[in-house]
Amino acid sequence: MSQTARFVQQVSRPRGRPTGAEFLFAEEQVPVPGPGTALVENVLLSVDPYMRENMDGAWELHGPLEGRSIGRVTDSRAAGLAEGDLVFHRQGWRTHAVVRPEDVRVLPEVPGVPAETYLGILGGTGLTAYVALARIARIVPGETVYVSAAAGGVGSAAGQLARLMGAGRVVGSAGSPAKVRLLTEELGFDAAFDHRAGHLPEQLAKAAPDGVDVYVDNVGGAHLEAAIGAMREYGRIAWCGAIAQYDAAEPPAAPRNLFDLVEKSIRLEGFLVRNHRDAQDELERLLLPALAAGTVTDRHTVTEGFDGIVDAFLDMLDGGNTGKAMVRVTAS
Ligand code: NDP
Repeated sequence: MSQTARFVQQVSRPRGRPTGAEFLFAEEQVPVPGPGTALVENVLLSVDPYMRENMDGAWELHGPLEGRSIGRVTDSRAAGLAEGDLVFHRQGWRTHAVVRPEDVRVLPEVPGVPAETYLGILGGTGLTAYVALARIARIVPGETVYVSAAAGGVGSAAGQLARLMGAGRVVGSAGSPAKVRLLTEELGFDAAFDHRAGHLPEQLAKAAPDGVDVYVDNVGGAHLEAAIGAMREYGRIAWCGAIAQYDAAEPPAAPRNLFDLVEKSIRLEGFLVRNHRDAQDELERLLLPALAAGTVTDRHTVTEGFDGIVDAFLDMLDGGNTGKAMVRVTAS
């Protein structure tokens, strides 16, 4: 086991899109776990859009950064945690963590389900997509579902889950022709379009000519405005995130058509996945057989090595990922 633990700190606030200069790599001796705690060597670290928002204030400068992480227990002085256990915890952006049993979830090691999947479609990413469809939008079989940032973590899960939950038509938008092909050729979307390559409302109208019943919004701004315009009466919008506006200093100009919500009796509801952890069992019951049968794919983009974590984060913000973006610190 390595004797040096490495970690990243945020040292300055970004203006607009971060450049990487806001972060600093540092190191220390590998900590020794005290009574009731265990040492975890991290295997996988998640990089997420909400971290961009945290950089504006929620993250203390020079303080420890949080983030969804999976690691192996290498030394335990805690009842309930054994050496070799694979655990999920929230001490991110570091190679090692000292954890207490109440702060971690021991992950099952299911044959054919790699650790990556517990950050991806079986983790908070897939749970967000599931909650959006099942609890917020309350999807009804046969409905048309539109997903933005559809080739990303939440988006690729939402499209596939919508299909599994009986959607009649699934359409998605993503930021390149290659991502559009991925959606229609591999992930089962009926239609998809490149949001960087044309007029959003026109492209959406072409992809969903009869209108949209359920919109899973990962982007906000102009995407939300286009979706409101395309919604059918009694449509539901599950608002997950607004990545188009996380860099902006000013409130977004769009959506300008909010009153359409009244005219079309549309329900728009935001949510945080952390308030729906109790849906995890439902998600697993739905997904484990589908993953085993190969009817659902867990896409992820893995950056190799802890050195790559800042670049992986910036690359995800720029749309460099397909599926869930994560960093492999060490082999599991
Ligand atoms: P993704 O894997 O979707 O990565 C982010 C993607 O956003 C990029 O790949 C890029 O794809 C797209 N993107 C970046 N900038 C823009 C832009 N200006 N306009 C349109 N698309 C853009 O990330 P996640 O799956 O982790 O998260 C997706 C969304 O869900 C985020 O908004 C996030 O904040 C939210 N979220 C909310 C949760 C909740 O509890 N409510 C929990 C988890 C995530 P492309 O190339 O297609 O542009």
